[in-house]
Amino acid sequence: MMAGARLPNETHPRCNVASSAHVLWSVTIIALLNMLVAPQVSAWSQVELRSYVAVMGAVHRGKWTVAATRVREGLKSAPDSALLNNLAGAVFFYRGETGDAESAWLRVLAGAPDDSLAAYGLGLASLARGNLAEAETWAERAMENGNVAACLLMRAYASHLRGALRDPSVPLPDSLAQARLGLAAAIALRQGDHRRALDSAREALLIRDTGRYAESSGLLMTFDPRAPLHCSQEPMSDALVRPTDAPSADPEVLWRVLGLKPSRAALARMGINAAGAMGDTSGERSLRWLADAIEPPDRPDPSVYGSPDRAAVPLWTGSPGRRVVALTFDDGPRRGPTERILHILRQYDARATFFVVGRHAAANPDLVAQMAHSGMEIANHSFTHPNLTRLNHRAVQAELIRTSACIAHITGRVPRFFRPPGGRVNDRVLAVAGSAGLRACMWTVNAEYSEHIGPQSVVQHVLSQVRPGAVVLLHNGSSATLTALPEILAALKRRGYEFVTVSELAATGT
Ligand code: ZN
Repeated sequence: MMAGARLPNETHPRCNVASSAHVLWSVTIIALLNMLVAPQVSAWSQVELRSYVAVMGAVHRGKWTVAATRVREGLKSAPDSALLNNLAGAVFFYRGETGDAESAWLRVLAGAPDDSLAAYGLGLASLARGNLAEAETWAERAMENGNVAACLLMRAYASHLRGALRDPSVPLPDSLAQARLGLAAAIALRQGDHRRALDSAREALLIRDTGRYAESSGLLMTFDPRAPLHCSQEPMSDALVRPTDAPSADPEVLWRVLGLKPSRAALARMGINAAGAMGDTSGERSLRWLADAIEPPDRPDPSVYGSPDRAAVPLWTGSPGRRVVALTFDDGPRRGPTERILHILRQYDARATFFVVGRHAAANPDLVAQMAHSGMEIANHSFTHPNLTRLNHRAVQAELIRTSACIAHITGRVPRFFRPPGGRVNDRVLAVAGSAGLRACMWTVNAEYSEHIGPQSVVQHVLSQVRPGAVVLLHNGSSATLTALPEILAALKRRGYEFVTVSELAATGT
């Protein structure tokens, strides 16, 4: 990497920390830091270096409280350190301690009036407080010797929010294309140019620094003048993917951590407004599903998610009057097993229902689309597969709505059924599900235990328990089930069974 890199210790006495009681990886990181950013690090004191590694290590592990404690400890020994005060500003700002962050950045400027990161940080704090003109001023001051792109974006964003920025062609570099398009969409929306707003929002959404159904991490532009910034997730961990990336963890990492990005949910909502204004109902609906999958609403819209009459009554079995069976596969989609199950089902001309886990669906939208194209029903198995009975109302709703929205965005159809993870359900979960238009689907035959034993056990269990109208619970990752499936399908077909989806089974009466 850097020419002239040198090893620590002998050549660099200030960094002789190898003899101290540091854990091994800290020492390794310090050595790497020394080798790779020697010119920068050589300007740091031992206290700064030690605190920096401790804080970044805590942040890397997602321990923000520890990070805040470590940076405060470091500042006790080196209260005037620009490095530690800038680091403190970033940590405090992410923790929502805006006042403490401002104090830290002001301390930097007291000693180094042209420190651009501190000026930029103060701009962020102004933005967070909704003081837009002040944010612009700080952005201009920071631009003089800082990260120009980040400062230009902050200035443009603040100007737009206070109605001053009318020109959508903000001169932002390609690395900020998503932000540029987001601003263009926001400005077009304000100008009433809905076509342009929709196109820009859609194009911005296609730029992914994260999953299609996930919000970016970091400082998000909400495009809402009342609350212009939202902090999400763990931005420093993002910048520091592995501990060995720590060498890049000099102030440049702090610029990255404090960089603005448009919120994906906000982009989708701008698109919804634009599509709605143009009467583009399908575009509006699709973007609503996307927005809800990224950031579930407090109240699900009944016109979007529906509200079936018997939502609170779980389905255990269908009517015994018809020789039908509903095979159900939980926990997918999974690359490999899902394609093989679909292949086998198609061979037997059988339809089935997949209870998908939302985050797996979000990560594998192509597999969900394949299920839909093969005529399968796709149903809701929560977003992260938690025990829903232990979550509060709002969390249960978020689990279910995110998953339904994600499925609907991929397939164009809102699921009607959900299966509680682990089968754990109570009246509260059923009521929340009902308000999200979902009815619980339980099972008549549960193959889970036989799936742990082997394929023959699955075959025997299912064939001995099945009866007309049965709902059969299988798993989308079980190799025993994959092996058993052709035999089960062939045997049930010989017995005159028809394979239906859960919705079809429910429609035959229970
Ligand atoms: Zn499950």
